Amino acid sequence: MPQPVFRFAPSPNGWLHLGHAASALLNAELARRMGGRFLLRIEDIDAQRSRPEFEAGVYEDLAWLGLSWEKPVLRQSEHMARYAAALETLKARGLLYPCFCTRAQAARFAAEKGADWPRDPDGAPLHAGPCRALPAAERARRIADGEPHAWRLAMDAALADAPGPLTWTDWNPDTGATRLVEARPVAWGDAVLGRKDAPTSYHLAVVLDDALQGVTHVVRGADLEAATDLHRLLQALFGLPTPVYHHHPLLLDADGRKLAKSLDSTPLRQLRAEGVTPEEARARIGWFSVRPGSSARPSS
Ligand code: GLU
Repeated sequence: MPQPVFRFAPSPNGWLHLGHAASALLNAELARRMGGRFLLRIEDIDAQRSRPEFEAGVYEDLAWLGLSWEKPVLRQSEHMARYAAALETLKARGLLYPCFCTRAQAARFAAEKGADWPRDPDGAPLHAGPCRALPAAERARRIADGEPHAWRLAMDAALADAPGPLTWTDWNPDTGATRLVEARPVAWGDAVLGRKDAPTSYHLAVVLDDALQGVTHVVRGADLEAATDLHRLLQALFGLPTPVYHHHPLLLDADGRKLAKSLDSTPLRQLRAEGVTPEEARARIGWFSVRPGSSARPSS
């Protein structure tokens, strides 16, 4: 078996909280147990929301937890030319189309479809705008005019291009057991692969970088499980190897809500300022604390 490669890939658009700590610790511990490598990747394609102090916070918080990682760290903002080149190959294959819709227009087009119009796994209505059907000459003119546009995957064309059925491997780190899961990327509709402000989206960059970095085990939160279906399709389109996946349960706060930056969960740096030790932070993660040989599952 090749040496396992794990990664923790935060977006520096907020302070890390205990949920991030749990995910990072689990990845690092699994790498340690399996004689593997542990990488850190900074997912900073969103120039509006990414901030240097949050990135510095990632390094400080992870070091405080006792983690170390390989250097140099891949920062996605430094790899835009590579993402743009990949996007070009999909364009050349006729699998992308430019979408000029503003957010408000996209919401209106979807609303016009009615309440039953399907939503993607993130809860956003599937794209319902007219851009897919624009004549090539109009597309070219609007692009030449500098009109802002995203690049969407023509899902039906992509599915026809990727030999199916598509599956991904769900890996249980406790037992080592694996099971094949059928990928249903169609649930994402015409997903954005190139943003208006960057020649990539999360989905494209994460797939290209996992492959570039030789990641063999993607261990991330259950909130990203549905995204794996789309990632599997992109791997097939690019002919990339597919890692195995483990989507760990999300930590819940005292009210049973998932910990998230938006819920103002206590940042690790605040815990630190309050005098909490790394050992106590690990203990607060509770069942998730990954001691050698311990289960990564709640006992109850
Ligand atoms: N950057 C993503 C996040 O912070 C995680 C990406 C991944 O693990 O695939 O939610």
